[in-house]
Amino acid sequence: MRTSYQYRIKPNKEQRQKIDNILDMLRCQYNFLLAQRFNWYQQNRCSIDSCSLVCYLPELANKPNYYNQKASLTQLKKDRPWYKQIHSQVLQEVPKKVEIAFDRWLKGDCNGEQRGLGVSPSRATANPKGKKSGRPRFKGVGRYKTFTYPQFKQHHFVGNKITLSKIGDVKVIVHRPIPDGFAIKTVSVTKKADGYYVTLSLDDKSVPTIKPDFNPDNSVGIDMGLIDFYVDSDNNRVSTPKYLRKAERKLKSAQRKVSRGRKGSNRRKKAIQRLGKQHKKVADTRKDFHFKAAKNLLNKYDVIAVEKLNIKGLARTRLAKSIHDAGWGQFLSILTNKAENAGLLVIPVKPHGTSQKCSGCGHIVKKPLSQRMHNCPVCHTSLCRDLNAAINIKNRGAHGLKAQLMSSIDESQQKPTLTRQGSVGTSPPPKLHNRSDQFITHLSGRRKTIKAIFKGLLQHTMP
Ligand SMILES: [Zn+2]
Repeated sequence: MRTSYQYRIKPNKEQRQKIDNILDMLRCQYNFLLAQRFNWYQQNRCSIDSCSLVCYLPELANKPNYYNQKASLTQLKKDRPWYKQIHSQVLQEVPKKVEIAFDRWLKGDCNGEQRGLGVSPSRATANPKGKKSGRPRFKGVGRYKTFTYPQFKQHHFVGNKITLSKIGDVKVIVHRPIPDGFAIKTVSVTKKADGYYVTLSLDDKSVPTIKPDFNPDNSVGIDMGLIDFYVDSDNNRVSTPKYLRKAERKLKSAQRKVSRGRKGSNRRKKAIQRLGKQHKKVADTRKDFHFKAAKNLLNKYDVIAVEKLNIKGLARTRLAKSIHDAGWGQFLSILTNKAENAGLLVIPVKPHGTSQKCSGCGHIVKKPLSQRMHNCPVCHTSLCRDLNAAINIKNRGAHGLKAQLMSSIDESQQKPTLTRQGSVGTSPPPKLHNRSDQFITHLSGRRKTIKAIFKGLLQHTMP
């Protein structure tokens, strides 16, 4: 099982300077390698019809890739000896980052997210085509914030001291101990608005990955909105926290102080720091709320159906600010991860028409966004609009889950037992352990009867 813990570190003045220095050097190298790739594309792509027939074609320049960019780092250290202040493996992360950013731009990726790192396989394969991300940007001063040691020796983190190569022994605030048996795999150092942090990636091979164990009947659908953060299909409402709006006045005055300051002045630098801290505070409070909301849901229910939202698209509308304020994307990823760790399930369903369809009879009732009630002319159901949508989402989730379970039964069901016994369904039913087993046997029982009917029909029709 792999997990990551983040701790605050307290480097001294000299160490702070070293970290800042390393980050800035890595930033320059990142920009250089990125420019190398852009140049190659600019110089080696031309439209064929503008070439005359008799012309000299120069040989194609070496295309920069991860390996030759990585190899160029040795020469870099010879030409610019100050790059020796950086641990070699930390420096090698830079061409990797450039490669990932470039691939995401040219080939696309699942939501433009990093492959393999922190993305569950189910989400990575959800969109095989992949969305292309924007053109990678050059990083300005202070925009390069993290570097990683891809290998770490266990004895370098003892008590409240962590030994970072080329930086020294740094004091760590261990607010919670590392769980027993976990080994530190990688260490990342991050500079945030309010200080420095290390993120330890921990691994324990002896802890098995959690197998799903849930009761499919204990399910709920949630409809995310802006008036309420979500409404579930049992009509529980959780209101949207408007942290950003409340903190907006403070943010505004902090932003004004930054804008008024003269560029490069000390006061402006301080104002920028204060603004960053204010933003971080809002983000932290929001994240805390998301964790609590996810925990509440997973304590109550085993299966949660959610809408598959196109957040990037929604955030381009007039409601952008409120949508960012609510942070649905973050909430959904927290919810999915937490459910996976608890052996529970989150099912994303298609959002199309969930608020228009009647949850009672399936009739489509068109209504504008301003109409908050759902009144069905066919079956006379009268519900709150969001509740109606939540029930629809729950039903779609249940439908999807049934299909999933059916296909898994299809794979596990052994055909020979059916043909060998001659008749179907004579074997005694297996002992039931829990309700999910019951559900599965119920389904497979139905499949068996269908097969029996087919067999009977064949016998009747065939001479
Ligand atoms: Zn109806």
